[in-house]
Amino acid sequence: MRLNILLSSLLPVFVRAAVQDPVCVVGAGPTGLAAAHALEAKNYSVVIFDKELEVGGKCQAYYDGVDGSLWHPMGALVVSNASYTETVPIIKDAGVPFLPGLSVTTGWDYPPLSPGDSVVNVTRMPTPTLDQIALILLEVPRYTALRDAIVKRTGVMRYTNGVPNDLTIPMGQWLSKNGFEGLPIIVNASLQLIGYGDLEHTPALYALKYLSADLLAWYTNLGTVNFVGEFHPIPSDRFINETGFECADYHAVFLHYASSIHGQIHTNTAVTKIDRSGPSPVLTHVSLGSTQPQTQVQNCSHLVLAFPPILEALQSTGSSSGATVDWNTTGIDMDLSPSETSVFSRVGLTAYFSGAVGMPQVPPQVAFAQLPTADVGQPVLMTKMHQGSGVVGTYSWGPWTPTGRGNLSVEEARNILLQTYSRVDFSPASADSEMDSENTSGAIPITDQDVREFRKWDYFPRFQSEDLANGIYDKYNALQGQQKTYWASGLNGFEMVEYAIQAGKEIVETFF
Ligand SMILES: Cc1cc2nc3c(=O)[nH]c(=O)nc-3n(C[C@H](O)[C@H](O)[C@H](O)COP(=O)(O)OP(=O)(O)OC[C@H]3O[C@@H](n4cnc5c(N)ncnc54)[C@H](O)[C@@H]3O)c2cc1C
Repeated sequence: MRLNILLSSLLPVFVRAAVQDPVCVVGAGPTGLAAAHALEAKNYSVVIFDKELEVGGKCQAYYDGVDGSLWHPMGALVVSNASYTETVPIIKDAGVPFLPGLSVTTGWDYPPLSPGDSVVNVTRMPTPTLDQIALILLEVPRYTALRDAIVKRTGVMRYTNGVPNDLTIPMGQWLSKNGFEGLPIIVNASLQLIGYGDLEHTPALYALKYLSADLLAWYTNLGTVNFVGEFHPIPSDRFINETGFECADYHAVFLHYASSIHGQIHTNTAVTKIDRSGPSPVLTHVSLGSTQPQTQVQNCSHLVLAFPPILEALQSTGSSSGATVDWNTTGIDMDLSPSETSVFSRVGLTAYFSGAVGMPQVPPQVAFAQLPTADVGQPVLMTKMHQGSGVVGTYSWGPWTPTGRGNLSVEEARNILLQTYSRVDFSPASADSEMDSENTSGAIPITDQDVREFRKWDYFPRFQSEDLANGIYDKYNALQGQQKTYWASGLNGFEMVEYAIQAGKEIVETFF
């Protein structure tokens, strides 16, 4: 009798796995992989597509060193034990070590460069006054309590509890309205250095979701108010049970995470067309590996579109022959409904660029920042992760555009990087040496060959203040499930690995 009940309850599950077309997941970044895991846990079959050579989405890396063991993040690098609750177990499961984190003790700064500048020197970031420090320390606990209460109430995935009007305003206004006078300088740096906009543009909704107590503490560094600084080597086992920010090779983490997915993962494969006119979606994909790209179709029971949903990514702008098309910028030919078009035309991104650049003159374990940032595509952050490698990681963004991908091309941003770093004198910079104009040996020109890798990313999908105030998340949420299509990305919460994983899981837990 018991066996009969068990069998009859399991039957639908087996039938579903056996007879249904798979759920097609487009995007093998953290969101898509988390969705695929969640779907398989519910016995759905899945098939995943991604145009990148390997899984991980924006968690890619450049490796050098004798055996390729030196990791340079091209995307995500930072993890916090306190707030990355879904992520930390995945990192541990992958056996990827927690590496020395960027600590925020002493920062080195270079100014925005003007066309007339020949060489600029890096300088120590100005030390705040005791009054400033006292004010900031006073404000941190109040901010933390307020922020945590707000995020608990409204910060659920897809903001399904509604977006209160006072969170739709830019973060600068929110801070001032709530009487914070010391924190703005830190909050602005924490947004600008990471490509998350600034006090003037980034809605409080997102800035608050991002800036949790642990991250704010990292930026304020318990009173030494500098923003980026030297690396402090930390034994890899120290991380466990401690709060704090460390780094992890997320690319290796997600390669491991993907390896336990049973469904097929087609990497180096662009989804070029989705036909939703029939009873279930039919997806066309092109494998990009060969000189003669192969076009194939896949029937899908449902679609999970797990990437930033800007209009350019959801409309075709190229031919479908494959050979001459830049699949990094060409979107999917899919007949968007008028309501989908009206929502996705309002999504904006940061044009964010990362590089791996050979610069032996830069000392290891030091970080440099451009503050204030120039908003013209100049690199804003640079770190050298390893002793024994001449490679630095660079991060650039700009200029700010409210919707769409932004106009700065990867070639233009690469040139701006070459021009900028060729004119900054990093030579005497080390954790121990003082930098002043007498102690410089000049800027060293960077050539094209020094740039080992340079990438542009679709980063930080978000809506603007005005659209938030007009209830755009309600409209976005109403799209879920229409024509068997589900949408999951940083837009569902915030552009961080932790929220990407949560977004992928939540979509499946709610709708499947
Ligand atoms: C330089 C940089 C630094 C970062 N640092 C951090 C950090 O320190 N900590 C942190 O938590 N987060 C960081 N992030 C953010 C983090 O990487 C993202 O939040 C996360 O990767 C988002 O995951 P996702 O799966 O939603 O999207 P993505 O990672 O963007 O994955 C989407 C995937 O969809 C694929 N795709 C899109 N369209 C198609 C198509 N038509 N056909 C096939 N495939 C398609 C893309 O190729 C991509 O691989 C950083 C990101 C960048 C770029």
